[in-house]
Amino acid sequence: MFKKILIANRGEIALRVIRAAREMGVATVAVHSTADSDAMHVRMADESVCIGPPPGTESYLSIPAIISACEITGAEAIHPGYGFLSENAQFVEIVESHGLKFIGPSADHINMMGDKITAKDTMKTLGVPCVPGSDGGVPDLETAQKVGAEVGFPLIVKATAGGGGRGMKLAKTPADLETAFMTARSEAKSAFGNDEVYLERYLGAPRHIEVQVFGDGKGNAVHLGERDCSLQRRHQKVFEEAPGPAIDVATRAEIGATCAKAVAEIGYEGAGTIEFLYENGEFFFIEMNTRLQVEHPVTEAIFGVDLVKEQIKVAAGEPMSFKQDDLEVGGHAIEVRINAETFPAFAPRPGKITQYHAPGGLGVRMDSALYDGYSIPPYYDSLIAKLIVHAPDRPAALARLSRALGELIVDGVETTVPLFHALLQEDAVLSGDYNIHWLEGWLDGQDGS
Ligand code: ADP
Repeated sequence: MFKKILIANRGEIALRVIRAAREMGVATVAVHSTADSDAMHVRMADESVCIGPPPGTESYLSIPAIISACEITGAEAIHPGYGFLSENAQFVEIVESHGLKFIGPSADHINMMGDKITAKDTMKTLGVPCVPGSDGGVPDLETAQKVGAEVGFPLIVKATAGGGGRGMKLAKTPADLETAFMTARSEAKSAFGNDEVYLERYLGAPRHIEVQVFGDGKGNAVHLGERDCSLQRRHQKVFEEAPGPAIDVATRAEIGATCAKAVAEIGYEGAGTIEFLYENGEFFFIEMNTRLQVEHPVTEAIFGVDLVKEQIKVAAGEPMSFKQDDLEVGGHAIEVRINAETFPAFAPRPGKITQYHAPGGLGVRMDSALYDGYSIPPYYDSLIAKLIVHAPDRPAALARLSRALGELIVDGVETTVPLFHALLQEDAVLSGDYNIHWLEGWLDGQDGS
C-alpha cells in the first residue's frame, strides 16, 4: 500500500479522498490555490502545498505544479477526484513518466472513452447497446443527409470531442439538418479544436440511467447497479438516486452484466460509469466517464462499499475487496447537489458562511467542505454540499431527505436548498415518474427563472 498520496483537487471531493486514505493509514497531501489557503481540505490533510494563484488553469490544472508538489512531499500516487485533471490522458502519461501512480484508469482507456466516436465503436464491439445513428464520423452534408434518411428524424448532431452538454445540435426535420450540421461543426471546432461530428437518433423522453463499474486492471470487473440521474438542469444533474425507480432486478442484472463484461474485456482499472439513455425498456449508450462521479455516494449507500478506498487499493496493486456475488442492493439512496446559487434564477452567490449546521441522524451523509466563517471563493464550481440519504425504501428515503433538508442551516449565502423543498412537493418526484426533460419544463413554470 502507498504511504502517502496527493489529492489533485479541492472542496468536498478532496475531503472525501482524505477521509478514505486516513482510514487506510495512508498519509495525504493537499494542494491548493492562494484562494483556498483556509479551505477545509487544506486543514484536514496531513500536509499541504500551495500550487498557484486562484484561477484553476494556474493551480488545480497546472501539471508541473502538481508533479512538483509530489516530488517535494514524497507522495507516491495522485488521486484526481472528478473534474480538473481527472480525465486528462496527457496528465496520466506525465504522472507515470515521473514514476508516480495515477489512481484511475490508463491513459489509453481515458483516450478511448474521451473521443465519443471511438467510445461508441468500442462499446458496440463489446456488445453494449448504442443509440442508432451514423457509423462513425460524418464528413460532409451529403453523408449527413444519407444517414438522416436511414436513421430517421428527429436527429441530434454531436461533436466527437464534446463534453459538458456542449457541441450538440437538434435537427427536428430534414430541412433543419443543414443548419444543425454546419453549426455543430463550427461550434465543435471553436470549442474543442476538432470539428468531427456524428449523428444519432434523438430520443424524446428518455431517462438518464448510468451503470457503475469497477475493474482491477487485470481483467476482473463488477458492476454496482445503476443510478437514475434524470433530474437535470442544462444537462447538469441535480438529484440522483439508486436504485433507479424504473429499473427492476432482472433489467439491472442484465445491463449490469453487459457493462461489467465490457470493462473486464478491455482490462479497465478503477471506477467508471457507463451512461445510457433509457426509453421504452431499451438502453442506449451515450458515453463513459473514466473517473469517480459526483453522485457515487448513492451507490456506496445501497451496496455498503467505499469506492474511494477501492480505487486506492487497486491502484496499489491489491485485489478488489468484493466480487459480483457479494454485491446486493440494500434500500434506497438519494443525493441532492446543493449549490451556492439563487433559486429560481440559479445566479452564483459566493460569499461568507455566517452560520452552518449540517443535518445528521440515521441514514444521513453530508459531503461538504463548508464550515462556520468559511468564505466560498468565486473562482470554482458552485457546488457546496452533497446531501445523501439512505433508507429501507424510496418513500422512506424521500421522507428522510425532507427531514434532513429541514435541519440544514447555511446562512450568509443563498443556496439551492429551496429547489429541493419544492421538488419534494411534486407528484413526478414523489412517484419517480420523470425523464431528462421534466425538470426544465417544471422550472419554466416557476417565477423568475
Ligand atoms: P456530454 O458529454 O456533453 O455530457 P452526452 O453525450 O453525455 O454529452 O449527452 C448529454 C445529454 O444530452 C444527455 O444526458 C441527454 O440529456 C442529451 N442527449 C445526448 N444524446 C441524446 C440523444 N441521442 N437523444 C436525446 N438526448 C440526448
